[in-house]
Amino acid sequence: MTVSIDPHSGFCFGVTRAIRQAEEELHKGMLFCLGDIVHNGQEVGRLERMGLQTIDYDALRELRHGRVLLRAHGEPPSTYRIASDNELEVIDATCPVVKRLQERIRDTYSSHPGAQIVIFGKVGHAEVIGLVGQTRNTALVIESLDDVGRIDCSRPVFLFSQTTKSVETFRQIVGEITRRRNQIFAGNQADMPPFEWHDTICRNVSNRVEEIKAFAREQDMVFFVGGDKSSNAKVLFAHCREANPNTVFLSSPDEITALPAIPADGRIGVCGATSTPLWLMQAVRDRLLALQSA
Ligand code: SF4
Repeated sequence: MTVSIDPHSGFCFGVTRAIRQAEEELHKGMLFCLGDIVHNGQEVGRLERMGLQTIDYDALRELRHGRVLLRAHGEPPSTYRIASDNELEVIDATCPVVKRLQERIRDTYSSHPGAQIVIFGKVGHAEVIGLVGQTRNTALVIESLDDVGRIDCSRPVFLFSQTTKSVETFRQIVGEITRRRNQIFAGNQADMPPFEWHDTICRNVSNRVEEIKAFAREQDMVFFVGGDKSSNAKVLFAHCREANPNTVFLSSPDEITALPAIPADGRIGVCGATSTPLWLMQAVRDRLLALQSA
């Protein structure tokens, strides 16, 4: 039996960068983090044992004179205002890709007063709260193709996407808005208000779907390691199981109590989400190898 780890799985660039920043800052002393630094309880626990304290918005409002790390998802302007009012030092670990997206939305909002800014994303997701905040909370969030009916297609539309959404669904949404506009204006381009769409999906994540499916197809069995709070883990796990039905989800190596029933010369693959640390996938691999040699 061989056990291999998917070389494309694990933290994306933005999360790796935020965790590195947290580790560096923890050497200087006490550090708070607004929300879980990553949707993986094991990694959060590791950093908390180093001294990181995870806080929520209520605790942020009460905090005075501390140091607060803002995670890769980014934050709305109101968070920076609270930090400034409370004389907190901000360690801004917002992913540069998210930061650029926030700037584009803010620029569009200020240069097109009254236009509809639409964000394809998950309502309540930290990144989406940060994006909507760039528009004084006026942007419309749509979660799926079915939500396109909520857009007023007779008015200007500026469409963006949360960085971790599906490219395919984004394209379908663009197609549906175009279809509705053509219907309203009987295809008369001259009468149509602007429709700008910006595919702001991070390829760091979208490319992983095909990569993880290819990896899963090569295995007799797959252990997908992810946090139960991670939406990215849920999506990638579904793709993984579609490519290889013999895929199981787990959050910790302790969940493996026996060797899986596969041929003696079988292949086991270990993979994970963009929020899964490499050390955790290695621990799963080591657990399987230990059971094999027991
Ligand atoms: S998925 Fe992309 S945009 Fe989001 S944190 Fe990772 S690198 Fe940044």
